[in-house]
Amino acid sequence: MPKGQVAWNKGKKTPDDTRKKLSLAMLGRPSSRKGKHQTEESNQKNREAHLGENNPNFGRTGGKHPMFGRCGELSPTWQGGISFLPYSSEFNAALKERIREHDNHTCQLCGVPQAECIRKLAVHHIDYDKENIADDNLISLCISCNTMVNFNREYWMKYFQEAKLGNRSNPEILHERGSQVY
Ligand SMILES: [Zn+2]
Repeated sequence: MPKGQVAWNKGKKTPDDTRKKLSLAMLGRPSSRKGKHQTEESNQKNREAHLGENNPNFGRTGGKHPMFGRCGELSPTWQGGISFLPYSSEFNAALKERIREHDNHTCQLCGVPQAECIRKLAVHHIDYDKENIADDNLISLCISCNTMVNFNREYWMKYFQEAKLGNRSNPEILHERGSQVY
C-alpha cells in the first residue's frame, strides 16, 4: 500500500456475514500480493549475502558488535523518549549528550566512566521534574546510581543541589559524600 494511504477497512468493523460474503467474492481472484513479493531465489541469495563471513558484523560479539547494548536511548532511532511524555520534548538525545559531555562521560555520583558501563550514562533530573531541563537540574549518572536515586528522593535532591553549587566536576568528592549513606 502506498505510504500515507489509509486502508479502506481501517477502523471499520466487518460484521461476520459480510466477511463471509467478502471471502467468497475474493475466491478465485489473483492475490494482490502476487508479483510483489520476492522470489524464493532472491530471498535465498539475500540470505547468503549476509550469512557468516559475508556479514559485516561476523565474529563481532559483545562490545564489538555495533548493536551491543543499543536499545532504548542507545538506539540510533531513539528520539529522546518522546513516546514517554511528559518528558519535555527538548529533553532529547542531543541535550543528554551535551550533559554527558559536560560531566566528562563520568557518573557524577560514583565516578565510574561511561566506557566501563554497559549502557550510556543516564541524565538525571535533580528535582525529579521532567519538565525542568535547565543545565543545573541535569546530571549524568550510571545506571545503578540512577536506580538508587529513585529512592530517598528528598535526600538526593538536596544532595545533588548542594553538589552542583559546590564541587560538581569532582566525582571523587561526590563519591565520598555519597558513600556516607551506606
Ligand atoms: Zn554511578
